[in-house]
Amino acid sequence: MPLLVIGTLAYDTIETVHEKRQEALGGSATYFAVAAANFATPRLVGVVGTDFKAEHLSALRARGIDCDGVEVAEGKTFRWGGRYEADWNTRHTIFTDLNVFEHFDPKVPEAYRGSRYVFLANAHPSIQLKALKQVEEPEFTVADTMNLWIDIARDELLELLQHVDGLILNDEEARMLTGESNLIRAAQRVLKLGPSKVILKKGEHGAFLLGDDVHFSLPAYPIEDVIDPTGAGDSFAGGFMGYIASQDSHAPGTLKRAMLYGTVTASFCVQGFSIDQLGACGMPEIEERYRDLLSIVSL
Ligand code: AMP
Repeated sequence: MPLLVIGTLAYDTIETVHEKRQEALGGSATYFAVAAANFATPRLVGVVGTDFKAEHLSALRARGIDCDGVEVAEGKTFRWGGRYEADWNTRHTIFTDLNVFEHFDPKVPEAYRGSRYVFLANAHPSIQLKALKQVEEPEFTVADTMNLWIDIARDELLELLQHVDGLILNDEEARMLTGESNLIRAAQRVLKLGPSKVILKKGEHGAFLLGDDVHFSLPAYPIEDVIDPTGAGDSFAGGFMGYIASQDSHAPGTLKRAMLYGTVTASFCVQGFSIDQLGACGMPEIEERYRDLLSIVSL
């Protein structure tokens, strides 16, 4: 089942208390697509600059990701720099250089317009909406966002929320968007803004899903050797949406299982820089960790 994703392809500079990595392949759509490719065929819509390495596009294609919607524009690829505190949950954005992403006018290729499952990965909400409007009859659309857009593009984000079925955001972003400090109240407030489902991520404390017909909560998969949490949210979304697309269903039971798959793909992501570990795991490793997570949360 194809799964359309629109978002960033990036080069990231990451600093942790142990290590620094420069110009690592990243981006919201990259992490999402690599995680989702285990379950479905991601169709990637995004933009890169002329400096984007051909080997990185081939690496994505080799994982079964359809990159025909990736445009190459004159200029530099989106770049982001972040630093983590020792607790891993505190992240500081050092810089965001939009570069070619600043004037990105998303064009969803004709062949992608019938996609039933759509993920609007982290990007300016007007770009997300512009892309979504080109999809003919999406069955289930979920969007991600972040503090930067809540801060500088709140009205556009509120408009986007009228057109999506689900929103994924982290605890800090949920508080910022709704003004509620209690996370359940914040999630309930999001549901009043348009989406029928909200997923609230709480870093190493897991995630919960709240919707009109579903309420489900999960801890993160316990990882002792975290290397770099960048992309954890996007790879969670990739496992979540990939599983939903593979089942061609967004019924409550499917959504709950999708939460487990998302938790598992995110856990592989944090075990390496960039897509090093996430890209190295396949369905057997994912299924093994899924069973393990299930046994951790079952009586
Ligand atoms: P996550 O850790 O899941 O929040 O995702 C981190 C990824 O998102 C990095 O690879 C960045 O390149 C990308 N990113 C950071 N800031 C933005 C932004 N403002 N818009 C879109 N993507 C971003």
